[in-house]
Amino acid sequence: MKQIIKNGFVVNPAKNFAEKADILINYGVIERVAENIDDYDAKVIDASGLIVAPGLVDLHVHFREPGYEHKEDITSGSRAAVKGGVTTVLCMPNTNPPIDNAALVEYVINKGKKTGLVNVLTTACITKGQEGTELTEMAELKEAGASAFSDDGKPVSSSMIMRRALEYSKMLDMPIMSHSEDLALVDNGSMNDGYTATCLGLRGIPKSAESAAVSRDILLAEELNARLHVCHVSTKNSIEAVRAAKARGARITAETAPHYFTLTDKACDGFNTNAKMNPPLRDDEDVEAVIRGLCDGTIDSIATDHAPHHVDDKRVEFEKAANGIVGLETSLALGYTYLVKTGRMSLLQLIDCMSTKPAAIIGSDRGTLNVGAPADIVIFDTDEEFTVRVSEFETKGKNSPYDGWKLFGKVRRTINGGRTVYKG
Ligand SMILES: [Zn+2]
Repeated sequence: MKQIIKNGFVVNPAKNFAEKADILINYGVIERVAENIDDYDAKVIDASGLIVAPGLVDLHVHFREPGYEHKEDITSGSRAAVKGGVTTVLCMPNTNPPIDNAALVEYVINKGKKTGLVNVLTTACITKGQEGTELTEMAELKEAGASAFSDDGKPVSSSMIMRRALEYSKMLDMPIMSHSEDLALVDNGSMNDGYTATCLGLRGIPKSAESAAVSRDILLAEELNARLHVCHVSTKNSIEAVRAAKARGARITAETAPHYFTLTDKACDGFNTNAKMNPPLRDDEDVEAVIRGLCDGTIDSIATDHAPHHVDDKRVEFEKAANGIVGLETSLALGYTYLVKTGRMSLLQLIDCMSTKPAAIIGSDRGTLNVGAPADIVIFDTDEEFTVRVSEFETKGKNSPYDGWKLFGKVRRTINGGRTVYKG
């Protein structure tokens, strides 16, 4: 029952700790973190030359169950998660039917437990059927185990419905996770409005389609002192809005995804549908704003927006292709390679954004290596370069723009509650 992770470089943002140390795990719980722990009853896991961090907490995944199991299911999604070093996921509710009732919330959580690889948590819908008109039974959904409310995939277009949702979620002390988008401004666009869209002859989506909606949601939450988590921010002006709101003391948190700091809309060249997502990839100015936002804490967390699709949903004309890419098996390496290795942020900051802060946003006790915490741990290698191979992914979705990319930060082992759930 005892294990020691020996000689790793331990990164624990909760204690601002980044040093070589051993970790003693007993009955699935972290019992000690210190130099040179010896215990003859314990099994030794050698982590020499490797980074040992709290398992990643991904607040934005689409596991597609129920209804779209041909794209992904909770089992295949869980396998992808542990391969990426992720030990806790928060599922989005745009399934078929949408997760808008207690039975479905319980179904997702129980299926996650049965699969037994990651801690599967779920959001529940803000509005019934995600139709944007009638609020769900939010108290009941919280009771059933939902961790947050979201209509992700769709915005809540009515300001009044969003205001009411924020009122209820405040009473329940739950965050609203907003997919902030002004559909009138999207106007059937399929990629970021700009030079590449013009060259390709595709209708562009203005940045204001996101930024204006983010500003609205912030103002609504701030007026009520409710908690708002802004999903997948991608524009400079969205980030400015979050920064200003935080400075005023509003209870706002925000996330971005690896594709918003590693890619621009140029990736859509050649009508590459694996670069089509919502919000769309932006330009260099926005990429820089995303990185700055992460570095100064304006953006709290990095989530994947893991959105697996069947090949038939992507192998069509660009305008008709489904939005989204898979992300669970590349997020840590993209974060490490593009944010830490480039010198923009420290390893502590990266793990804070990918584990500790997202756990705190949903009130989870995970995301730390503190004594007494569940032993959810990722052990990864930052020395050896590896090549991303979509064909080797565990997710059913092969829709990734990173196939063939060379990255650092390969996951060697993922531990959940003291149990090794992945070994690479
Ligand atoms: Zn979304």
